[in-house]
Formats: sequence, structure tokens, C-alpha cells
Amino acid sequence: MRKLVLKLLILLVALVVIIQVPVSMAASTSSLENQKEANQDKIDENKQKKEEITAEKNQTVQEVEEITNQISNYENQIAELDTKINTLNAEISENEKKIEEKQAEYDEQQELLEKRLVASYEAGETSYLDFLLSSDGIIDFISNYFLVTEIATTDAELLDSIEKQKQEIEEAKTNLENDKKELDTSKAEKQSVAVELQETKSAKNAKVQELTEDEQAIQKEIDELAEANKSLDAEILRKQQQIQAQLQAQANKGNSSSGSTSTGGGAVSNSGFIYPVPSAYAKITTGLYYSSGQYHGGVDFGSGGINGQPVYAVQEGVVVTAKALNYSYGNHVIIAHPNGLYTLYAHGQAGSIRVSEGQYVSRGQQIMNVGSTGNSTGPHLHFEVRKSPGTYSNRVNPIPYLP
Ligand SMILES: [Zn+2]
Repeated sequence: MRKLVLKLLILLVALVVIIQVPVSMAASTSSLENQKEANQDKIDENKQKKEEITAEKNQTVQEVEEITNQISNYENQIAELDTKINTLNAEISENEKKIEEKQAEYDEQQELLEKRLVASYEAGETSYLDFLLSSDGIIDFISNYFLVTEIATTDAELLDSIEKQKQEIEEAKTNLENDKKELDTSKAEKQSVAVELQETKSAKNAKVQELTEDEQAIQKEIDELAEANKSLDAEILRKQQQIQAQLQAQANKGNSSSGSTSTGGGAVSNSGFIYPVPSAYAKITTGLYYSSGQYHGGVDFGSGGINGQPVYAVQEGVVVTAKALNYSYGNHVIIAHPNGLYTLYAHGQAGSIRVSEGQYVSRGQQIMNVGSTGNSTGPHLHFEVRKSPGTYSNRVNPIPYLP
């Protein structure tokens, strides 16, 4: 007798394990989708950051180009100044040479004059008489006498003129030297600006390098997130296939249509859906659009007295989400159905959810009670139909699918 009880117990445990294992295997994909969405948000954020970095980098590169142009402009100006300075230097040394030549000429003339004056003087007392005696007359004498003094005057004037020329050359040389000094100053100024520009350019080039590294780092992060999302996609697909396989397995067991635990009733639509609430409350009080014209995304069952009424699975399927929120949908359940559709039931009474993620449910099975949790102004069932993959953006009008 005790053996039989033990056998029965083992059988019971085995049954529970057999039933529970595949059910718990197909967990919800919603957490994976949330993760994916978070990654995508981060990707978008990084892309924007990268765009900002790239813009700053391009701006800096442009600045570097402008500075490079300025530097080469200054270098050209410096080269021009160098040419001018070289020319001036050549002119200055030419003038120095000329001054020396003039000096030599002056010295020579002075020597000659001195010699002549000395000769004239030495000859003086005797020669005037000689001049007089050898002259053919007083006129001749006078002209000979003036000839001597005339020569002296001409010589003095020549010397004067040489001296003047020398002074002019010296002045020209001084002017050239002043010009050269100005050019030297200008060159030094330009060189100092060029050095400053070179320093700015180096700093900006370093900045470009830094921004390029930032850019690469952020791109790497984007790539990694994209890679992570690829893995998540694969995992989501795998989970969806698990859910489908689970639905298939249940269908093969033959309990797919009626559902032995079904408590809901009413007519079945062409899509295989029943109403998600008892027939007495199966009245749509708000359609796909609010009276304001704003998109609603689902329909509401909000007849009087609906509070606490059971909420039914409109068709067999696997629960992919069962969440109790105090905002948005409030207590809500999402079910994946064999036809690839998803249904959502929202605002259930607090604590009334009686299914869990990954659980198989039959058509008409109660999943919770009508309530007013989350973003709701009064007791009603908010009901949505979604196309694969069951996300918010895949909501469709539920009415054609209902009886
Ligand atoms: Zn609603």
C-alpha cells in the first residue's frame, strides 16, 4: 500500500516536471527587447555625440589649414624681406667701396694741389719776375699770374666737390642702413608671429588627434552595442521559436481549441478569438481612436459593473509578459498566439494576475480581473492586438479579430 502511494507520488512529480519544464523554458522576450531598446538608445546617443565630435574635428582641421596658410604667407613675406635685405647689404657695401674711392680721389687731389701750391709759392718771389720778364707785356704777365691762382681755385673747388660727393654717398649709405634696420625689425616681428602660429598649429593638431581618438572610441562603443543587439536579436528569435514550438506541442496534444480550464465562453470569431470579458460586458466603449481623434492603439471594455470581472485569454497561447506596473498599462498581460498575433490586456486589479511569463494558457482561461491600475480613470479592460513581433509599434485594430 505504501509502495503504491510512493509510486503515485513519483508519477505525480514526474508529471509536474514534464508539464512545467517546457512551460518555463520559453521565457518572455520582453526583457531582451527592453535591453535591445536601451542599447539602441545608447547607440543613438553615441551617434549624436560622434557627430558633435566630428563637427568639432572638422572645424579644427579647417583652422589648422587656415593657420598653415597664414604661416606660409608669413614665410613668403620673410623670404621677400630677406631678398630686400640682401639687396640693401649689397648696396651698402657698394657705397662703402665708393666712399673709399672718393676718399682716395680726395687724398690724391689734395696732395697734387699741395705740391702745386708749394711749387708755386717756392717759385713765387723769383718766378713772378720771370713771368714778368718772359711775358710779352703786362697783359701777358697778368694772364700768367691769374693762371697760377686760377689753377689753385679750381683745385680747391675740385676737392670741395669730391668731399661733397663723399658726403652724399655717406648719407645714402646711412639711409640704406636705416632702411635695412627697419626691414630687420619687420622680419623679426614676422618671425615671432610665425613662431606663435606654429605653436597654435601644433596645439590644434594635437586637438585633432585627440578628437580622432574620441571618435574612434565612440565608434567602437557603437559597434559593440550593435554587435550586442545582433546577439539579442538572435536570442529573441530563438525564444520566439521556442514559444512557437511550445504552442505547436500544445496543439499536437489536442487541447488547443477549447481548453479544459476555460471558464470564458461566447462565440469564436473567424480569427479564433473570443471576447476577453464575459459576454454581458463585451461592449466596446472606446474604439481604436478616442473621440478627440487621437490614436488609442486598442479598445476599451468599460461597461458599468465590469470592475472585478474575469479577463480571458482570447485564444490559446504563451504568456510573454505578465507585469504589475503602477503606471502606463498597470497590471497587464501579453500573450503570443499560434497565428503569430499577440494580445494585450491592461489595467487589471492589483494582485489579480494569475498567469506567469512563459506559461501556456488555453482559450477562455482567466488571466486576471478587470481593474483600474496604471494610467486609468476608471475600471475597464484595455485590449490590444499586435502583429509579430508583438511590440508597441505593431498595434492593429482589434475589432476585425473579435466576434
Ligand atoms: Zn484603453
